[in-house]
Amino acid sequence: MRRLAGAAGLKDAVVVNTCAVTNEAVRTARQNIRRARRARPDARIIVTGCAAQTAPDDFASMAEVDAVIGNQEKLTPQEWRKLADDPSPDDNDAPTIRVNNIMSVRETAGHLIDGYGDRARAFLQIQNGCDHRCTFCIIPFGRGNSRSVPVRVAVEQAQRLTAAGHHEIVLTGVDMTSYGADLEGAPTLGALVAAILDQVPALARLRLSSVDGAEIDAELFERITGDSRVAPYLHLSLQSGDNMILKRMKRRHTREQAIELCHNLRARRGDIAFGADIIAGFPTETEDMFARSLNIIDEAGLQYLHVFPFSPRKGTPAALMPQLPRTIVKERAARLRAKAADAQHGFLDSLVGREETAIMESGGRARLGNFASVKVTNSDAVAIGAACQLRLTAREGDVLIGEAI
Ligand code: SF4
Repeated sequence: MRRLAGAAGLKDAVVVNTCAVTNEAVRTARQNIRRARRARPDARIIVTGCAAQTAPDDFASMAEVDAVIGNQEKLTPQEWRKLADDPSPDDNDAPTIRVNNIMSVRETAGHLIDGYGDRARAFLQIQNGCDHRCTFCIIPFGRGNSRSVPVRVAVEQAQRLTAAGHHEIVLTGVDMTSYGADLEGAPTLGALVAAILDQVPALARLRLSSVDGAEIDAELFERITGDSRVAPYLHLSLQSGDNMILKRMKRRHTREQAIELCHNLRARRGDIAFGADIIAGFPTETEDMFARSLNIIDEAGLQYLHVFPFSPRKGTPAALMPQLPRTIVKERAARLRAKAADAQHGFLDSLVGREETAIMESGGRARLGNFASVKVTNSDAVAIGAACQLRLTAREGDVLIGEAI
C-alpha cells in the first residue's frame, strides 16, 4: 500500500489497515483512527482492511474518516490513483466508500513485494481467503473465498526475496493448508514447500505461519520432519481441546487427531516446537470442556499459545449461541495464559546451555528456528538479517539471553 500510494502521488494521508478478528481489534482500529486525526488534523484518513471490508458504513460514519476502501481495492494501483486525484476533501463532504463484494474476488497476490527493508524475515503470501465457515469467524467475510498464488510465481518471489538478502521466508495465508485446490493440477502445500526448498537452495530457513492440523498432506509432513531448512516450529489453528466445542465451532479436527499429529511430528523431529491458537469461553463451554483446553497444552506438548477470549462477531452463528458471562470468559483466558506461560518458560529453560543457530532481528534480538526469541548480549557483532551461532546462557521472562560466538 505504501508503494502504491507513493507511486500514485498520494500525499498527506494516513492509511489505517484494520483487523476484524475480534471486537477488541475493531475497537483498537477506531481508537487509532481518532488518534491519527488528533495527530494529523489536516491529513486525509483512509481506512481499509477486514473491519472496513465487513462494516464499511460503521467507519464511514466516523467524523474523522475521509475514505473507506475494500481489501481488493487497496491492492490496485487504480484505487490509489483515484484517491490521489480526488480533490482535497472538504469537512462537509461525505466520505468516499469503495468496497466491492469480496466473495467475487478470484485472484490473489497482486501485491507481491521485492523486499522488506531491513527486516530479517520476509513474508510471502501464498494464499488468501477461506472456504470454511467456522462458526466464530468473521474472516471469510473480510477476505473472500480461498485463492492461491501459482507455484511458479511463489518460487520466483522466494528467489527474489532470497537474492535481496532475506535469510528467512515465512509463508503466510488465511487458510494455508487449503493451498492449491483452485489451481490447475491442484498442487498441495507440501508440493509448494518442496518446490521452494528445491528451487531456492540459497534460502536458509523456510517457516510456515498458522496451519490447520487436519489438512497436513503427506509431502508437507515429510518436508517438515525431514528437511532442516524448514523451521522446527508449527503453529496450529487448534481453537479448543474439547470435541463438542470443536464440533460447535465447525472445526475439522478432533482433540485426539491434534494430539496425535504433535506426537507424530515430534517422534520424527525431536527439536520441533508447537504454538496454537485457543479460544477461551466459547458459547456453551462448561468447566469440564475448558479443562480439556487447558490440559491439551501438556498432552500435545504446546510451547506457545495465542489465547483469545471469545468475542461474538456480529453476523457469525456463534454470536447467536448462548453466551457465557464475560467474567468467566476473561477468567478462563487468564488461566489458559498462565498455564501457557509455564509451558513456554519450561521449554525455554530446557534450551539454556545449548548452542543454536539464529537469525538476527532488530532491537538486539535474534530468533531461533523453534521461534524462541533471544536477547543477544553482543548484538553489535552481528548484522540484522544474518544467520549466527548463539550460546544460550539464561532466560529472562519470555526471552532467552545469548551470546554470539
Ligand atoms: S478455517 Fe480459519 S479463516 Fe477459515 S473460517 Fe475457520 S477460523 Fe476462519
